[in-house]
Amino acid sequence: MRLKFWGVRGSIPCPPSQEEFRGKIKSILEQWVAAQPNCRDEHDLDRFLDSLPKGQASFVGGNTPCLSIDFGQEILVFDAGTGLKNLGQYLVPNHISELLELFYLTEKIGALGFDIGGKYWPTHRLHLFMTHTHWDHIQGFPFFRPAYAPNYIIDIYGANKEAVKTALLTQQTSPSLFPVPMDAYRATIDFKDFPRQGQKIGDLFIEALPLPHPGASLAYRIKSPTKTVVFATDYEIQTLELEGGASLIGLIDFIAQADIFISDAQYTYLEHATKTGWGHSNALSVVEIASKAGVKNLYLFHHDPNYSDEKLLDILDKARAYAKLIQNGSEMGVFLATEGLTIQI
Ligand SMILES: [Zn+2]
Ligand SMILES: [Zn+2]
Repeated sequence: MRLKFWGVRGSIPCPPSQEEFRGKIKSILEQWVAAQPNCRDEHDLDRFLDSLPKGQASFVGGNTPCLSIDFGQEILVFDAGTGLKNLGQYLVPNHISELLELFYLTEKIGALGFDIGGKYWPTHRLHLFMTHTHWDHIQGFPFFRPAYAPNYIIDIYGANKEAVKTALLTQQTSPSLFPVPMDAYRATIDFKDFPRQGQKIGDLFIEALPLPHPGASLAYRIKSPTKTVVFATDYEIQTLELEGGASLIGLIDFIAQADIFISDAQYTYLEHATKTGWGHSNALSVVEIASKAGVKNLYLFHHDPNYSDEKLLDILDKARAYAKLIQNGSEMGVFLATEGLTIQI
């Protein structure tokens, strides 16, 4: 399985501020100048950038949730936050997008024998799994190139297909919100209720678990013949026993022994105390349940839009220290989900 994070931020996109960017560049330049005698060419510069403390030459990322998982021929996508735009550009690069437009605009599609699945344009299928329809999880869809490509088939799963369809298509393309009408989507788009018994896609098996969040959210567990990944965003550990959906025991069962557990960890422990009931978790509580469940690698996700990279790295340090403390020698990896991060398992 190959996982890639296209968006890791919660609530609202937040590109880095000018101050944050300038601070990073200044710090890099200072270190670059100090290291000059050892730097001879571009490769030296790359090595130098790679040697900088984590986060100095990169950003955690400002796009909202989107994760892709490739396995063989299958492409699975989780959530349609603003990170979905860059995934779309990767799947349908500029030259293909321009050709598709050209074929369409010249109205020669029929004359040229254009058909989805035809010899010119092989059909691609992808599966989009929606955790829920809060705006930070749907905003990327109107900018998702495959949705405008007639050779794409997109199956979209969620807890309630009508609610997902309304939020993702109808509401977002209402003229007062977006200038491109819904009929501009030329892909074959099919909405499905996520089946209770789970969904098989190729050699993968996907199961879902309802989680407590205002308006509810679904966690997904993806199993290949050898590995297990769980994606659980927008849920609150403190309210697991209070609201509908999974109990704490239910969640621990669901994530048990996962090779990778990607979890909402929006707040610090202290900030969470002031925001209970908002539907998000904190890093330390997530470390605790992941450790109890025997998770092998935990990725903190859905970062608060007000948190700087520096603060997120501090949260990571504390989460790692806490994991060490409570694990008593066992070794769960704890990481920050960062935009562009690719994981091969
Ligand atoms: Zn969210
Ligand atoms: Zn939400």
